[in-house]
Amino acid sequence: MLEEADTIELERPQDQLIRRLCATLSGYLDQNQINDCIRAYEFGAAAHAGQFRKSGEAYICHPVAVAISLAEMRMDASGIMAAILHDVIEDTPVSKKELAKEFSVEVAELVDGVTKLTKIDSKSHAEAQAENVRKMFLAMGKDLRVIMVKLADRLHNMQTLGVMTPEKKRRIARETLDIYAPIANRLGMNNIRHKLEALSFEAMYPLRYAVLNSAVKKARGNRRKIVDIIESAIKNRLEQAGLRGDVSGREKNLYSIYQKMLHKKISLSAVFDVYAFRIFCDEVDTCYRILGVIHNLYKPIPGRFKDYIALPKAKGYQSLHTILIGPYGVPIEIQIRTHDMHRMAESGIAAHWLYKSDDDKTEKFQARANEWLRDLLEIQKSAGDSLEFIDNLKVDLFPQEVFVFTPKGGIVKLPRGATIIDFAYTVHTDIGNACVSARIDKQLVPLQTKLENGMTVEVITALWARPNPLWLNYVITAKARSSIRNYLKHFKQQEAINLGRRLLEKELQVMHLHLESISETRIKALLKIVAKQSLDELLEDIGLGNKMPFLIAKQLTQDDINANIKLNDSDHIKKAPLVIKGTEGMVVTLAKCCRPIPGDSIIGFFNPGKGIVVHHHECRNNNEVRKKNTSWLDVEWDQNAVGEFPADLRIEILNQRGSLATIASTISELNSNIENVTVVDQDDRVCVDLITLTVKDRVHLAKIMRRLKELSIVLKITRVKA
Ligand code: MN
Repeated sequence: MLEEADTIELERPQDQLIRRLCATLSGYLDQNQINDCIRAYEFGAAAHAGQFRKSGEAYICHPVAVAISLAEMRMDASGIMAAILHDVIEDTPVSKKELAKEFSVEVAELVDGVTKLTKIDSKSHAEAQAENVRKMFLAMGKDLRVIMVKLADRLHNMQTLGVMTPEKKRRIARETLDIYAPIANRLGMNNIRHKLEALSFEAMYPLRYAVLNSAVKKARGNRRKIVDIIESAIKNRLEQAGLRGDVSGREKNLYSIYQKMLHKKISLSAVFDVYAFRIFCDEVDTCYRILGVIHNLYKPIPGRFKDYIALPKAKGYQSLHTILIGPYGVPIEIQIRTHDMHRMAESGIAAHWLYKSDDDKTEKFQARANEWLRDLLEIQKSAGDSLEFIDNLKVDLFPQEVFVFTPKGGIVKLPRGATIIDFAYTVHTDIGNACVSARIDKQLVPLQTKLENGMTVEVITALWARPNPLWLNYVITAKARSSIRNYLKHFKQQEAINLGRRLLEKELQVMHLHLESISETRIKALLKIVAKQSLDELLEDIGLGNKMPFLIAKQLTQDDINANIKLNDSDHIKKAPLVIKGTEGMVVTLAKCCRPIPGDSIIGFFNPGKGIVVHHHECRNNNEVRKKNTSWLDVEWDQNAVGEFPADLRIEILNQRGSLATIASTISELNSNIENVTVVDQDDRVCVDLITLTVKDRVHLAKIMRRLKELSIVLKITRVKA
């Protein structure tokens, strides 16, 4: 007796807890893994030495308690170790590096993840952004074990609120209801969710809780007799039918009773009017047979039967629900499900932690999370229902978004890969336009820094600052992109107009003219031809290099010449697509001597009465033309130049029967037409042909030449440019 009392006195609370943890772990981990957990405990206890909980217990009791609740859900060894160590980075001098060295990178990463979540916790005080905080949590807990540890951590903190001021309790309870309970719900972990809700309810409304609690206890006591009668009636009937099923009375939790009373505005007795039972069995088939037996025992209320096995509810909840009229006319609510379905309903994602085998180390936790989703998908598929809820869940679990804080604690949501510039424009266009640098978590960083979940971003602006065109390479949000473009456009526009005016005046000067001396009607006529609304628009186009000032000057002054061309050829001009940039309303001819095609470097000559003749830059005729004609132009192909452009190929082929046919069919296979073939030279062995074919552009021609070269009959092939 005395001895026993001594040992009880000597045993500290933490000793008791670690013993309980090991006992639970031995149910599913091997001895080596348990030893690792004990090592983590010893390490953690040493790190937290001298720290105490408000209750007066050694601090290490808290993380061990957290580990116990995770062990009850069969969390793997690394997760248990992380739970035991979850506060050391935050509250002791131990670093992530040390943890990695002492245990494993995996454990260190998990603890680091929990620490980051804890930091968010303290930052996000605004209730209004609960949804974003929840998303941020899920986004940050890339490894879901991090979120599990955090949930268990919060559960234990709620269980030990103890001596805090009511106000502080309420604040923590509110946060638990806003953030943690919904996350548990989203992961299908109803067990934790209900515990969190009940504890929060108690902390927020201690009086209501006490009243409701005692009322419920009393009601339960009064009902005991009827519950027993119903329970044994069901058990007997199942036995008679030879069906194996475990019957248990179902107690609604206080928070959901409270919610029901609050939202449906009904009294406690009305909530308690219903007697609820659950029946668990092993096979899906048995569920339906039990249902039949039960419907035979008591009369079901029409329209109240729900088959959630065939048509599962969100997150894969499966069960049969029915309501019966029991003895004395009391309504009985019955849920029938397999043990597996129950496990899924209670533990959700955690139901997949069960180890399949000990050497299963390669299996990653995330894979199990995916497995969970896959299971849901399977259930959903067999139900033939919409897949929408899975999609929602996926988005929640693996978000494509990052969540960052403003300096004031607001949360900004951005797509993954967004930079500080995106952030700045998301906050406000003016901030984006004036940003010069930024601080992330108080550290100065460049603007192109990519954002990560949980960062606090402070943008530094300057009055003189202007958006930089290079930023377009660093932004991914549509708003930032269009804002930058917009700014640059407006800024550039005036400059381009000024430049265009100067260039045009210069050309006019050669003709001893000024822009002012040109009549309004003439300008208007030209604007119509080039499809511009105003002179400024035309000048801007000149400034941006889209129109040639020389040609515009010519069109403005020599319209008698152009008029002739237009009269003869007006239809043609209208219909023909623009081939050379900035030549709207002009006649453009591609020189026959060198046959330029889009993609070639080219040069143009303005020929009064003929319009513009375009030559290949390497055309031999150029030198002569240049000597004669001073009006040569630096021209460019229009971006959208389309058509069939003739090109000349000189080709040496084996002089044998069918050679030319092979060449012809190869060319036509590549969507080109042969316009002309001339035999230039031939002997017994070789034949030299000059082929004129049509192509879309240089790339097209290159493709044809490459293909022809591959033919065994082709000896040599060259393009002819005059
Ligand atoms: Mn903690």
